[in-house]
Amino acid sequence: MAKKKRVPIPDDIAAEILFISDRTCCVCNIRGKQVQIHHVDEDPSNNTLGNLSVLCFECHDQTMIKGGFGRKLEANQIFKYRNDWHERVRNRKAKADEIASIQTVTGSTETVIVNVINEEDYLNYKTYDDPNLLKDYLDKILIVHNAQLTIARTKWDTGVTMTMNQGNYDMVDFYEEVLIELSTFYPKGHFNNLTPKKYFSELISSRFLWNRLVLEPHGVGTGGTIVSTMTGGSVMNDLKHMIVDMVNSLLFPYEIDEQIDLDKWRDEWLT
Ligand SMILES: [Zn+2]
Repeated sequence: MAKKKRVPIPDDIAAEILFISDRTCCVCNIRGKQVQIHHVDEDPSNNTLGNLSVLCFECHDQTMIKGGFGRKLEANQIFKYRNDWHERVRNRKAKADEIASIQTVTGSTETVIVNVINEEDYLNYKTYDDPNLLKDYLDKILIVHNAQLTIARTKWDTGVTMTMNQGNYDMVDFYEEVLIELSTFYPKGHFNNLTPKKYFSELISSRFLWNRLVLEPHGVGTGGTIVSTMTGGSVMNDLKHMIVDMVNSLLFPYEIDEQIDLDKWRDEWLT
């Protein structure tokens, strides 16, 4: 068979496939890894959106294995992984909007906590130093947190790696939203002059990488599939405690007035 000529992927199509994949490998779903765009049918001139998928270098290597005991990732498997992942990214984005709307609807016009979604929103958003607003938010978030945990537990209880990972990623998404919300109580530009969304997105990617590296002391890829679940669990735990640290700092001046019972909040948050 004659080798097909590689045609560069048009910028708009590359941007689209990266967006709908959340710049994350559709096979292992591990955030923060370097990724590349793969031609599923192995024809490098077929740059239609339907033929492209985002893979990390490790998973991409698995598409190249020929013979031996390696498990080659076949095109039909990649299509399945890819379609599942794209749907999951869509749902995550919808869920983030849903959490934002819960937070917006439950506040009055004056007490709306703006959810920082993009650069434009960030330029317009206000920061808050009103302890009552913070208190309202913290009360509300305990309820949403419990609801999120209930949903995640049904996924963890399946014992199926992919489903358990989804439970972890749901919680990571939720904690990311909370971190972004809490950052609106700090001055504008406080987080390294980045938008809170960008700042936490980078931080979380780096936590995924850190926890993964820690969990595989004998080399990347040596820990088996359970490592992805353990990594997600560790990131989840990191973020949960980062939220406690933020709340702790934000409440410090007010706690003296006993307006807010930090210990009680923390106990409920960490259960
Ligand atoms: Zn991968």
